[in-house]
Amino acid sequence: MVTAALVAAVAVLIAFTLPPRRLVLQAQTDGTIPGIFHVHTSRSDGLSGPDEIAAAAARAGLKFVVFTDHGDATRMPDPPQYRSGVLCLDGVEVSTTGGHYIAIDMPPAPYPLGGDPRDVVEDVRRLGGFGIAAHPDSPKPQLRWREWTAPVDAIEIVNLDTSWRQWAQQANAPANQTAGASGRWPARRRLLAALAGYPFRPAETIGSLVRTDGLMSQWAALASRRRVVMLAGADAHAKLGLRADPADSSFVLPFPGYESSFRTMSVHVAADRPLTGNAATDAALLTRAIRAGHVYTALDSVATPPSLEFTATNSRGAARAGDELAAGGPVTLHVRSNAPAAFTTIVWNGSAVLSPDHHEQDFTVGAPDGPGVYWVEVRSSNRSPDVAWLTSNPVYVRDAGASTGLHGRPPAAISRAFFDGRSVAGWRVEHDPTSLAAVDPAPIVGATELRFRFGLAGGPLVGQVAALVVDTPGGVAAGDRVTFTMRAEQPMRLSVQVRAGDGGSDRWARSVYLDASDQEHTVFFDDMVPMGQTRTLKPPLSSVSSLLFVVDTTNTKPGASGRVWMKRAALEK
Ligand SMILES: [Zn+2]
Ligand SMILES: [Zn+2]
Repeated sequence: MVTAALVAAVAVLIAFTLPPRRLVLQAQTDGTIPGIFHVHTSRSDGLSGPDEIAAAAARAGLKFVVFTDHGDATRMPDPPQYRSGVLCLDGVEVSTTGGHYIAIDMPPAPYPLGGDPRDVVEDVRRLGGFGIAAHPDSPKPQLRWREWTAPVDAIEIVNLDTSWRQWAQQANAPANQTAGASGRWPARRRLLAALAGYPFRPAETIGSLVRTDGLMSQWAALASRRRVVMLAGADAHAKLGLRADPADSSFVLPFPGYESSFRTMSVHVAADRPLTGNAATDAALLTRAIRAGHVYTALDSVATPPSLEFTATNSRGAARAGDELAAGGPVTLHVRSNAPAAFTTIVWNGSAVLSPDHHEQDFTVGAPDGPGVYWVEVRSSNRSPDVAWLTSNPVYVRDAGASTGLHGRPPAAISRAFFDGRSVAGWRVEHDPTSLAAVDPAPIVGATELRFRFGLAGGPLVGQVAALVVDTPGGVAAGDRVTFTMRAEQPMRLSVQVRAGDGGSDRWARSVYLDASDQEHTVFFDDMVPMGQTRTLKPPLSSVSSLLFVVDTTNTKPGASGRVWMKRAALEK
């Protein structure tokens, strides 16, 4: 009797806290291909293998899945493959010192990717991949993308894994730091309601934790200067871990399941042609469209299936979401969706509202002449929570000839040689006890090259390092940069470092890419970042005691060996 009353009470409680059931809409008409991006398999920290995950995606009505297991990008990605009728693409999520960066549509890297996020972005670009800054709003600093100056191709504006972490962080925040709606108790109630509701309405429950607005201003700041594709990631693992580091799965719960995550959110790709059933052909179609930004995000836990088309026309031509349009007179923006009348469609220009309050499914909006970054959001007004149900990519209207280039630095006027192409005197090597390194002169016609040979010890990571070193008595304050010409036997990354402090305990670094062709590189000292326990952000130039060219396991595998040749190196300003 008491038990029955308790069960009834709990049932009433759950019924009151359940998120609203998703709206089921008329079949979509926009011809897009629904899929899911950012999924972990059991190859890294996910629960299941690709076959099982593809079957879950098929049950959720999706047509493609992008796997993004953690790695250093040296593994050969699986070729595109249909499983359970779902096209499976294989990408990688690389850990950098500035957060996680996802690369898709890329061959294996010739050396491990990692280290400075700017270098990983550069490597992904050189290798022909498409790079996505992962969960820039994660409350976990080790995971969060923090490098906003690097030319990333895309950013993840929503990440389901981040959503619950944000609530969990709020629920665990010290009592004196939070109050009101941002306090601990609202977050705890929200998480408890989610735990209670999950078995009954899993997708709606996961969706009820999603906050879609956190990154729009950062994205808009980038997009005002250049194309940056908006993508959304499930970050599905099929387990919840309170893990700081992806390898640590000591405490995990086996939910949310893949299928529930896949029913919560999807990305919709507008490919140029329908899928053919041939995995390689279709993968090329899909990735070409994603690269072009021909994609929008839908929160299916609110309403499904979605339909959204967004185009812009002016005197110069027509463009669709993701494309650039040359500025030329007023712009007509055309939106067509299957939004229920109660929902609100908003047309944005960057982070400013252009036209706020539309409830019709087909309308046009005028925008003035001049540059703009126009995009569309359909919000689930009058539902709790009020979130973006659909988020388009933008049409970029640009002034012809607008400069989007990087700021140059003045050319050097002062040059003091570290190596002038004659004598290698003063140069030496350093290495850990297990690795090898040597420096010697290599005569060429009319000059001498400096040859550096290294061999990192194989086996487990034990701090393998080999370095080419020149001491700089009196510091390097006479310059602001080091310029050098180098090539390497095989593609590699070399870390250019300066050392200072007692016993050389402080180091700052910036890495460069080398391959078989001689290239001149310039590293500015104020562009270096501190390593390890280094006490200051920037190197104190007058007390720099050594300049080093370092090979270590950040970008070189244990057991690797190679040769590097230097033609010249100089301190410049
Ligand atoms: Zn991540
Ligand atoms: Zn991930």
